[in-house]
Amino acid sequence: MSSATAIINLSRIEQNLQKIRQLAPNSQVLAVCKANGYGHGLVQVANSLQTANAFGVARIEEAYKLRSSGIVKPIVLLEGFFQSTDLPHLVASNIETVVHCIEQLEAIEQATLDNPIQVWLKIDTGMTRAGIAPEELSHYYTRLKASANVKTEIRLMSHFACADELDSPMNSTQLSNFNHCTQYYSAPRSLANSAASLLIPESHFEWIRPGIILYGVSPLESNTESTKKFSPAMTLKSCLIAVKKVKAGSHVGYGATWTTTADTYIGIVAIGYGDGYPRHAKNGTPVWINGRNVPLIGRVSMDMITVDLGNHLQDKNGDEVELWGDNLAIETVAAHATTIPYELMCGLTSRVKLSYLTPNINT
Ligand SMILES: *Cc1c(COP(=O)(O)O)cnc(C)c1O
Repeated sequence: MSSATAIINLSRIEQNLQKIRQLAPNSQVLAVCKANGYGHGLVQVANSLQTANAFGVARIEEAYKLRSSGIVKPIVLLEGFFQSTDLPHLVASNIETVVHCIEQLEAIEQATLDNPIQVWLKIDTGMTRAGIAPEELSHYYTRLKASANVKTEIRLMSHFACADELDSPMNSTQLSNFNHCTQYYSAPRSLANSAASLLIPESHFEWIRPGIILYGVSPLESNTESTKKFSPAMTLKSCLIAVKKVKAGSHVGYGATWTTTADTYIGIVAIGYGDGYPRHAKNGTPVWINGRNVPLIGRVSMDMITVDLGNHLQDKNGDEVELWGDNLAIETVAAHATTIPYELMCGLTSRVKLSYLTPNINT
C-alpha cells in the first residue's frame, strides 16, 4: 500500500488539447500551464502538450523553469513582469509579456534591451481586474508601437469574468466591449479561456487560452454535454490504513461532529488537508472504494479522513481508495467542499507523489 499519490495520464492532456482545437479550428492555442500545470507538473505537462502553439504561465519562475528544461516554444507571462529588472532576462530567455499597467509600459520604454520583446496588451473589458481601460487602448498601442523595445506585432487580449455561466449577460457585454475597442486594429486577438473556448465561438479570435479543460476538468458551473468528451488527467489515490467496527452512537473525529446512527464499519484513509484534500469537505462527500462511493464522516484531519464503509464489510486494511479521478469526478468533490476543481488540483501539497502513466517524458 502506498500513501497519497496523484496518477497523471499525460497522453490525455494532449488528447484534450486536440479536442478543444476541433472546437476552435482557426485559432492558435496558448495552453495555460500555470500553478505547476494545475497541479499536474509544469514541465511534464508542457512536454506532453506537443501540438500547443505557446504556453501561458503566471510567474516568471515558471517561465524560467520551462526554458531551463528545454522547452523552446513561445511562453507568455500572463500578468507580465513585476519588476523592470526582469526585462533583460525575459528577452534573453525569449519570454513574452503581457502589459496591463502603466508601470510595465514605462519600464519597457525605458529599458535597454538586446532584442525587442513580444507584447500582449491586456484590456479590462468588464472584469475589473488586471487590464487597461478600453479608452486607453489607442494611447498604449501608439506608445508600444513607437518603442524599439517592442516587436512590431502587438497582440490584444482580455479575460472573461463569467464565461463559466452560460447565461450571464456579462459575456456578451465583455465580448462587445472587446470587439468595439479592438475593431480598427489589425492585431491578433485573444479572449477565450476554457469555458469560452467551449461555449462562445465568437470569442475565439486568433488565439484561445484554455487551461482547466486541457486537464479534462470542466470549468462550467453546471456540467453539460459540452465537456463529456474530455477525460480527466489526474486520479488522486491513497489507501485504507485501518478498518474497524464501531457501535451506533460513536463520535467520529475532531470536535466529535459526527455520530454514527447504527453499528457500522469505518475506514481510515491516509489523506488529509496536509496533502491538499479539502478540510471543508462536508459529511457525505463521496470517496471511491472497491467499486462504490462511500461517505466521508467527521472532520478532515491533517493526515487522515474517516469514511463509513457500511455494515456489510467488503474492504480491508491496505485497499486502494480514490479521492477523485476516473471513477469519481473532481467536480463532485469540489461541490461537496464548497470550492472549485481548480483549487483542489493546484492545492495538492508536496507530500503527494505525482506518478506519470506515460513513460519517457522528460522532467
Ligand atoms: C488562467 C488563465 C486562463 C485559463 O483559464 P481556464 O479557466 O483554466 O481555462 C486563461 N487566460 C488567463 C489570462 C488566465 O490567467
